[in-house]
Formats: sequence, structure tokens, C-alpha cells
Amino acid sequence: MTTNPLVERMQSFGTTIFAEMSSLAVATESVNLGQGMPDTDGPLEVAEAAIAAIRDGKNQYPPLIGVPELRHAVAEHQKRFYALDFDPDTEVLATAGATEAIAATMLALCEPGDEVVLFEPYYDSYAATVALAGASRKVVPLRPDAEGRYEFDPAELRAAISDRTKAILFNTPHNPTGKVFTAEETAFVAALCIEHDLIAITDEVYEHLVFDGRVHRPLVAEPGMRERTVQISSGGKTFSYTGWKIGWVCSTPELISAVRTAKQFLTYVNGGPFQYAIAHGLRMPDAYFAAFVEDMQAKRDMLVAGLTDAGFDVFVPEGTYFVTADAAPIVGHDDFDGLDFARSLPERCGVVAVPNVVFYDNKELGRTLLRFAFCKQVPLLEEGVRRLRTMGAS
Ligand SMILES: *Cc1c(COP(=O)(O)O)cnc(C)c1O
Repeated sequence: MTTNPLVERMQSFGTTIFAEMSSLAVATESVNLGQGMPDTDGPLEVAEAAIAAIRDGKNQYPPLIGVPELRHAVAEHQKRFYALDFDPDTEVLATAGATEAIAATMLALCEPGDEVVLFEPYYDSYAATVALAGASRKVVPLRPDAEGRYEFDPAELRAAISDRTKAILFNTPHNPTGKVFTAEETAFVAALCIEHDLIAITDEVYEHLVFDGRVHRPLVAEPGMRERTVQISSGGKTFSYTGWKIGWVCSTPELISAVRTAKQFLTYVNGGPFQYAIAHGLRMPDAYFAAFVEDMQAKRDMLVAGLTDAGFDVFVPEGTYFVTADAAPIVGHDDFDGLDFARSLPERCGVVAVPNVVFYDNKELGRTLLRFAFCKQVPLLEEGVRRLRTMGAS
């Protein structure tokens, strides 16, 4: 076969940079701060709950909508943290991570020709699932202001909406910028959804990683949003078990039923015993969530200090476990290619990061930016920071 067998709408989605950077880290014995996953397990009691479920014979297909224990735990968690009410039997759906939830939502709700509005930089699966659904994306940039806080232009967001717009995809806390949308920004997005009768698809997988006393504000809690929001989250990031892929969707019975219909033919179901374990995690006391955020905030501070000393312009993240840093002060802005620089970083200082340019449609906006992850053990972060500082000294 001489031509590319891949369907045309997927051809711009080749292999991701993440694999390349991770092999580079191994080959060069670099500290890998590119990969966005923890290098330690989450709470032992959550792992014990999975083991107990396996020993207890919870090993066959769970119900399509998820085991009752998980659906009830999700509903309780929504009530406890956000005072939101969801019926665990009709308004909660378990999924194979947030990734399947996003894909099933797009496939269930978007017709070919529909448009989906998203902020860039964006998580890579958004564009791919919009394309799989035969829809197209309209991208609104987040740009840093003078203080280094990522913002969108309300007029640009308004202008991105057309007669064909079906949905807005809203990710807060935001990967890769670490932005936590403010009350005012959230209210503005909600008002636009209502004005234009749009569905909001929210990605809140970092809901428990907000720093400096900030709060996470689900878009669905805004007046008029409950009936039009598909709220997505998962346990991977919150409990540091990213390999288990237990996610969930909360919405109205009608929207849940639509998403479930698509989800049914993607994975049908997944991770039976792990659904029980994540249910256990969601019910852990407040102390767990507080300690988790405190630990990650200390790691953020450590990495931010190291990157600053190395000479980067650092955008201090308000949430998530990523920090974006601008390499322009180190290498100059002109003729600079983020991909090349990321590839040269192991040689420069023995650290691997991800070039943010891969998260942009408007490549110019991300050209000089790198994303570093700090969900790592302290000794590894210390070594990473030590190596980064050598670059500042040279
Ligand atoms: C990690 C991540 C996901 C994927 O979550 P899973 O539950 O592992 O599928 C989705 N969205 C964002 C922004 C992420 O960072």
C-alpha cells in the first residue's frame, strides 16, 4: 500500500512528542520532567481496596454505567466539595478515564460539520476526538498578561462562536498552563453558553490540585449551566494511580444517556476492581486532599525556583502539576524552535521537558515554551533543579 491508510481526518495526528521525549530521557540518562505522571504510588489504602475487590471476586464486567459504589461515591464527592446534587443512578456514568469520557461525549453530541470551541494550548485528545466525530475546532488562545497570568480575550471567545458551534470544551485547572479560571471568567463562559445555547464539556481532572488557597469552580455550578454541562473528571491524577483509568461523567439523565450510548461501543466497561478502589479514595477524609495539595505545592515552589535560577521566564501555575517556562531569555527569541530546544535540553543540562508548541494550533504562540512536570519524588526534583541551575551558570 503506497498511500497512508489512515483516514484523512486523523492524518494530522501522528505519534506524539511524549514518546520521543521519554526515550530521549532514557538514552541520555536525563531527569524526565516531561512525562505528566507521578513516579510513586498513591495512598496504600486505595491500592488495598483494589486488591480486596479482586480477592472478593469483583472481576467480571461491571454494569455499563459503573458499579453502584463508585457512582454513589462520585455523587457524595460532588455534594461534599461543591454542594452539587447528582442522582447516582441516572446522572453519573463511569468511564475508562477522562479520555474515554471526552471521546464518548464528542461522538455522542457532535454531528459532522458542528464546531467545538476550545482554548489553546489544549490537551492533545481534544482535537483528535473532535476530528473523529467529524466536527471541527475553533481555538481561542490563552496568553500571559504582564504578570505572567494566562488570560483569554472575551471578544475573541465571543467571536469564535458561530451558528455551527455545538459545544465549548472547558478545562480548569488547565493543562499545560496551570491556569485556574477565576469566578469572573467562569461566569463569562457560562453566560456565553446560555446566550448561544451551547453544551459545555468540562475537563476537571486536576480539580484537587489548586494552590495558594484558590478554589476550583465547576462550570456546572453556574446558574443555568446544570442542564447543559457534561462534567468530566477522573481518579488518575487525584489519587496518583494514572494506570487504572477510572473516570466519570456527571450530567442530566438525557445527556448521560447520550454519552452512555457512545461509550457502550467504545470500551463497554473497564477496570471493575479499580472502580471500588477509586470509590474508596473519593470517600477519604479532607486531610488526604489537603496533604496532597500541600505536598504538590511545595514541589511546585521547588521547581519554579530552579527554573527561575536557570534563567527561564516562569509562569507560576495556580493548579495542576505542570509549570510552563519560556526559554526565550536563555536562547533568544528569533529563529528559535521549541521542538529543537526541547531536543537539545538533555545535552544542555540533562533534563527532559515537553515543548508546548505541540499544544497549539497557532504555533507562534507556543514556540519558546516548555512544560515541566513536578509530580515527582523530591530527590529527583532536586537533581533536576540542580541540573537546570547549571544552565543558568554557563
Ligand atoms: C491526564 C489528563 C486527562 C486524562 O485523564 P485519564 O483519566 O487518565 O484518561 C484528561 N485531561 C487532562 C487535561 C489531563 O491532563
